[in-house]
Amino acid sequence: MQSSSEAWLIQNAEIDGRRGDLRVRGGLIHSIGLDFEPAHDERTLDARGGALIRGLNDHHTHLLALSAALNSVRCGPPEVTNEKQLSDALHRAAQDSPAHQWLRGVGYHESVAGDLNRSRLDQLGPRRPIRIQHRSGARWILNSEALQQIAHSKSAQQNTPLEKDPAGRPTGRLDRADSWLRKQVPPVPPDLDRVSALLTQYGITGCSDATPDNGPATVALFERARKRGIWQPNLRLMGRKNWSISDRSEFSQGAWKILLDENQLPDHATLIDEIRSTHALGRGLAFHCVTRAELVFAASVLEAAGCTPLDRIEHASIAPPDCVEWLARLPLTVVTQPNFIHERGDAYLESVEDRDQPWLYRCRGFLEAGVRLAGSTDAPFGDPNPWLAMQSAIDRRTHRGGKLGPEEAISPEEALAMFSSSLEAPGHHPGPLRSGESANLCLLTQKWALARDEMDHRQVAAVWTRGRRVDHAD
Ligand SMILES: [Zn+2]
Repeated sequence: MQSSSEAWLIQNAEIDGRRGDLRVRGGLIHSIGLDFEPAHDERTLDARGGALIRGLNDHHTHLLALSAALNSVRCGPPEVTNEKQLSDALHRAAQDSPAHQWLRGVGYHESVAGDLNRSRLDQLGPRRPIRIQHRSGARWILNSEALQQIAHSKSAQQNTPLEKDPAGRPTGRLDRADSWLRKQVPPVPPDLDRVSALLTQYGITGCSDATPDNGPATVALFERARKRGIWQPNLRLMGRKNWSISDRSEFSQGAWKILLDENQLPDHATLIDEIRSTHALGRGLAFHCVTRAELVFAASVLEAAGCTPLDRIEHASIAPPDCVEWLARLPLTVVTQPNFIHERGDAYLESVEDRDQPWLYRCRGFLEAGVRLAGSTDAPFGDPNPWLAMQSAIDRRTHRGGKLGPEEAISPEEALAMFSSSLEAPGHHPGPLRSGESANLCLLTQKWALARDEMDHRQVAAVWTRGRRVDHAD
């Protein structure tokens, strides 16, 4: 299905600030110049002065979870903010789906109905097996029907990670046990076609998937989807420690992803040895750090093991000045999610200590200290639209219009650069478009001087991935 190459002449575009034409051949940018004559085998597109930029790269997403989320009930802000709305959303989803089918909720936050458990969920939801994911991604809450179905499965009997109350009854809460839960519930095949189309619509031509349990099976799934022509974006997969991607794969292998939890930090010395052996294989580490303590722990083990440019800190949600200075001395990249300023900023303004608020999801502070900074959405835990993330990095506005760390604001050009660096070298400024590079391109409807004032995905006019036009507007 995949036509290996297309020949395009994009005329009258704005390329790095100047009017020009760009020719695509064999999957690459062939040449950039002025007033090219169309060749007989070329398709032409008049850009009408619109900016032609690199396709965007989302440096931290969870694609299979995004697919599942697109078929899930939203259970948290901004769509759902109270118990009544949660109950309505669950009952509506039950009406719209076959009887007995599991309902899957996502994005739950305590501001909706407190610290949710099985009995509260039984009262709020329909009589269906229901599982709801906390928006942190770390917790699931199951209702009684769901627990009953799980109790029937053999694998659930042994080593159950289900939280129990003092009487030994499951509370319905389940922490950091995604792969266990997946084995208990009926499988839902991923809808990668839909995910690919959604990302393309945003001008995304590449993603790094940051799911910790990625391994050969995930690679095989995406390779099959690529062969069938339903998966377009370039892809780098972080994941488990011990596996390697085949040299023949079209995808690349990213870092070993480690989820830190400040209440259960791993043994320092063992981890340092493991980091060294991972580095020896030419692979980096990616540490999930959302608290100060986690950030300090990650910086200290990386420094002790010998940090490399392949190493990354995911989120760095709270980064006080002493931590930023420390990170700046290491060759790593921080991968941030400015969309959380918009999506979660109101909750942060209420719940995060005053002294930490200026250090939330920083941008300017990292750039000024010389820390390499890459942009991402953490979809589906954040909105998958990178334009929303870029706009949040620029205006630092919360959903309700508050301001979170306004001195951390960056320019539209800096925001775009965070999403333009390559999957292999996130946070490295990619420089102007060059002939010879892979043709991952995004054409906007207007010139950059106008586009920068409204960072909105609706100005994406056309998208090419490895030289093929992949948006369906054509
Ligand atoms: Zn993530």
